Amino acid sequence: MSKIPVAAPDLSGHEEEYVVDAIRSSWISSTGPYLQRFEKEFAELCGTQAAIAVCNGTVALHLAMLALDVRPGDEVLVPSLTYIATANAVRYVGAEPVFVDVDPCTWCIDPAKLEAAITRRTKGIIPVHLYGHPADMDSINHIAAVHGLWVVEDAAEAHLARYKGRPVGSLAPIATFSFYGNKIFTCGEGGAITLNDKHLELRTRTLRGQGMDPQRRYYFPVTGYNFRLTNLACALLCAQLARHGEIIERRRQIFSAYREMLAGIPGIGFQPVAAWAQPAPWLFCITVDQKEYGRSRDELMALLEEQGIETRPFFIGLHQLPPFRQESQRRGEKLPITDSLSSSGMNLPTYASLTDGDMERIGRAIRNARR
Ligand SMILES: *Cc1c(COP(=O)(O)O)cnc(C)c1O
Repeated sequence: MSKIPVAAPDLSGHEEEYVVDAIRSSWISSTGPYLQRFEKEFAELCGTQAAIAVCNGTVALHLAMLALDVRPGDEVLVPSLTYIATANAVRYVGAEPVFVDVDPCTWCIDPAKLEAAITRRTKGIIPVHLYGHPADMDSINHIAAVHGLWVVEDAAEAHLARYKGRPVGSLAPIATFSFYGNKIFTCGEGGAITLNDKHLELRTRTLRGQGMDPQRRYYFPVTGYNFRLTNLACALLCAQLARHGEIIERRRQIFSAYREMLAGIPGIGFQPVAAWAQPAPWLFCITVDQKEYGRSRDELMALLEEQGIETRPFFIGLHQLPPFRQESQRRGEKLPITDSLSSSGMNLPTYASLTDGDMERIGRAIRNARR
């Protein structure tokens, strides 16, 4: 029986043609027409003034922290249920991530729990649009405004998701994206920042390119970084964006097929969708209620693995991981929703070339594994 991976890129459009074109043009470093085209088109899709391409999503978050002048001693509120990059970026600038539980209705940072986590040191909030579902940005932005905090959206997993009709990436002063191989749009390794403010854009572009003054070549007013993305990678991204509708539509089909196939299996739950959300179809999520299903999430994953079906457990709450555990305990953080989702949730294979036969195999395996 063939193996079914949990994710695979869809490079079936003009990806190869554009990459060959970039090579033949000799624009293989971090300037060139595909870079300009990508930044322009991605900003348009996100409804922002600008998009800035960077070499991965972690760097996008790090650059956002630098652009906002986050410093040692500062605290930044982040959800505990997220990929570690969200919190690592805060540490890179010497600041401390403070963990907030997620909302059971969105699986994103819970606005009702933000205020209790704010201290004199708190400078900002990084909501994550987890597993494609947008965070409740109006509530988060309101609390941020009341307390004078900045907000950065981590939209790595939620390309083109919408909140109350508005695209993610346009809902805070800065948003960050990842184009890693398992993300909805990909170039292997890549990322972007979207923003709406000319001054912040200039600062971010300067920091991305070693701190060089855009008006005066080889004059460096500040210490910057090499966080650039290549024209080659942007050729891939341009080919992906050229059929963004098709890529999203195919993943939506897979989502509805899973929902239909798995509906009514006792103990199998789905990702909730808030009334105001149009989530991005990233990796399909299920939760396993051990009492109802008769097996734990880990047992189900192991059984699927035996049948050649790769799945992925939900993120471990960052407050449980060695780099953050001690500080979290010292603050006395209790994050029950994160803990419960983290131990019961898993992602199913989601990618364009998944066949109806593959999906039936997965559906049957999940149905039959119940005790
Ligand atoms: C993938 C991801 C990132 C980081 O992206 P890389 O491109 O792998 O560095 C950041 N945040 C979240 C929530 C992610 O899923």
